[in-house]
Amino acid sequence: MKKIEILPEFSLQGNYELPRLSYAYNALEPIIDAKTMEIHHTKHHQAYIDNLNKALSGHEAASEPLLSLFTKISTLPAAVRNNGGGHYNHTFFWTVMQKPVDNNLPYGVLKDAIDRDLGGFDKFAEAFTQAALTRFGSGWAWLSVDDNGKLFVSSTPNQDNPLMDVAEHRGYPVLGLDVWEHAYYLNYQNRRPDYVKSFMQIINWDEVAGRYESLI
Ligand code: MN
Repeated sequence: MKKIEILPEFSLQGNYELPRLSYAYNALEPIIDAKTMEIHHTKHHQAYIDNLNKALSGHEAASEPLLSLFTKISTLPAAVRNNGGGHYNHTFFWTVMQKPVDNNLPYGVLKDAIDRDLGGFDKFAEAFTQAALTRFGSGWAWLSVDDNGKLFVSSTPNQDNPLMDVAEHRGYPVLGLDVWEHAYYLNYQNRRPDYVKSFMQIINWDEVAGRYESLI
């Protein structure tokens, strides 16, 4: 995990606070409804932050960047893993979405890398969808870059992520999808496949490409 300091969230450290979104709660409609976004941001994300601050209060780990803690998360209390992951994952997630776009596709250097490492966009979409749908219970699907600059698709349970030492496949996330029911239940109920398919229209490929290019 050589490049962890490059990630924009590396400055997250101590006294964690709810980040502002760069768009309105209704900006992602009709893919994600405003009520879901508001509850997800002000209640779920806020709860991870409150519980993370509580878990780190008086703990020596409080003085280290959150992303550094992920590299030794197996040695820290479960509350730091669950709520630290929850805070980072959501902070990250908000940035990789935007208002719906028709024919929303990656381009440029990122597109070339998807072609090279994953066999093209359709293969990527298939693998990402599979990762999201086969994650039993709650978790996340990810597109990440490994230490050699190669893209890979994976999923993690609960609020784990590929930056953590417990991850099966470690790397630096450039795209993530929350597949906890709280992320989609109001609009999609049990239809996780429809949620995952619709998500493709709101991926902020500019943001994903920017993250990718900073890591290679
Ligand atoms: Mn969530």
